[in-house]
Amino acid sequence: MTEIVRGADWVLVAERGPGVPDGIYGAECMSCEARSPLFDDDELPVAVWSIQHTAEYPEHTLFLARTERHWRVVPRPHETGPEQPPDAGGVLGPAFVGLMCLLTALSGLLPALNY
Ligand SMILES: [Zn+2]
Repeated sequence: MTEIVRGADWVLVAERGPGVPDGIYGAECMSCEARSPLFDDDELPVAVWSIQHTAEYPEHTLFLARTERHWRVVPRPHETGPEQPPDAGGVLGPAFVGLMCLLTALSGLLPALNY
């Protein structure tokens, strides 16, 4: 999914997936009501249609070409901040336990040094 706009609670994404065209192409003549058929994922047939229309009506040379896409709005996923990854405790835990073991061992040695 391609994220387009992110709001506080919702995210607008470009709909992608099987059967979903990347773009739907079409054109209409600005001189008359003629419209090309719509083509998925390929604007070349629309260009060919425009040229053929001008060949048939030489005065009709300006077209409005459109590309249509599907958008979808989805709930914004709730994220944890990058400063606090959820596994921080797992990384710091063993080091902390190791430090406590070292301190315990040293405190056991200290009384022996006094004698
Ligand atoms: Zn026309």
